[in-house]
Amino acid sequence: MHLPLPEPLEQRPLGLPVHRTSTFAFATAQDYADVLGFRKPGYSYSRIENPTVVAFARAVAALEGHGVDGPVAADAFASGMAAIATVLLTLCRAGANVVAPRALYGGTYGVLTADLARFGVETRLVDGGDLSAVRAAVDADTAVLWAETLANPTMAVADLPALAGVARESGVPLVVDSTFASPAVCRPLEHGVDLVVHSATKYISGHSDVTGGVVVGRPELVERVRGARINLGGSLSPDDAFLLHRGLATLPLRVERQCASALAYAQALSRHPRVARVDYPGLPGHRDHDLARRLFDSGPAGTRYGAVVTVTPAGGRPAGLQFCDRLRLATIATSLGGHHTVVSHAASTTHRQFDDAALAAAGIDPGAVRVSIGLEDVGDLIADAVHALDGLD
Ligand SMILES: *Cc1c(COP(=O)(O)O)cnc(C)c1O
Repeated sequence: MHLPLPEPLEQRPLGLPVHRTSTFAFATAQDYADVLGFRKPGYSYSRIENPTVVAFARAVAALEGHGVDGPVAADAFASGMAAIATVLLTLCRAGANVVAPRALYGGTYGVLTADLARFGVETRLVDGGDLSAVRAAVDADTAVLWAETLANPTMAVADLPALAGVARESGVPLVVDSTFASPAVCRPLEHGVDLVVHSATKYISGHSDVTGGVVVGRPELVERVRGARINLGGSLSPDDAFLLHRGLATLPLRVERQCASALAYAQALSRHPRVARVDYPGLPGHRDHDLARRLFDSGPAGTRYGAVVTVTPAGGRPAGLQFCDRLRLATIATSLGGHHTVVSHAASTTHRQFDDAALAAAGIDPGAVRVSIGLEDVGDLIADAVHALDGLD
């Protein structure tokens, strides 16, 4: 059976076309050779490049590159972890070390300590907020300085300009996982960061219906990561690129609203008698409040401090678990950044490998609950949380 191909479209559609194809046809064998040899522009194979995926990557580059001197490029991946693993494999070699904050995303910690360690890459974990500790850990074999704009679940803010200074002094690339902030809160390239990675699964998608990742930065560096992505194969699919591109269209609106709701939620809950502690950089008592004000964007509702709030009910582990169970509007689930408010009890989920001593060292209470604020009515969200707290044992 032969299914004929459609003619190329002359007109430009306003919606993003989904080029759901693994391969691209050439008029002549010479065209095929010229495209592969970079003598002619064109697409050959979707693991290498696909127009829908390129459109998504370019949109992220435009967003993250806003206010940055010089060109910015981006490359898209099938998940945040595909992006992170590919960046680390691009920059590291046997005998190198990576300097990263102790409060590191679990998946990144896994790639470094379980996978890259077998290839002779050493991981040096430091207090990311202690600049002299960071500086002391960096040496001639450091291949990457890693940071996270907002750390989970303490919501510690990375001092990006200061870390960029350390990276520049030592000639080491600074890579920042900015998933928790999203480009609608902070654009790390503006602060001297070399590469930004996102789990696009979170705020960029915004609808909890797709996984994806993206790497953004100077074109020379992104080009090296792209080369590794083509070899390693963690490329984004065209359908998922369509959903992520659509997510970008409403990202600033969604995040603006989620941040405003998160601030109101954090303020209301910090006054509740059953709450021991609320970690949210929008609260003046948070250790990084001033830094967040300096680094993060503001809009009509004031500075955007992100939309993840960590609530610690008094009563330790059982109180944290019971708080989650008593919520009716918020869902118990992993992930964040979507329009549904979701909660997870840190000590039994994201930080389950930590015993109580390790939790204490990391500044995490055994009762801490991470709340990713969604797009529900904020009054309803607060009423739900107050009801859950009022009924705790
Ligand atoms: C979710 C997440 C990742 C991993 O992204 P996936 O899309 O799940 O692979 C990496 N970093 C942070 C901070 C995350 O929250």
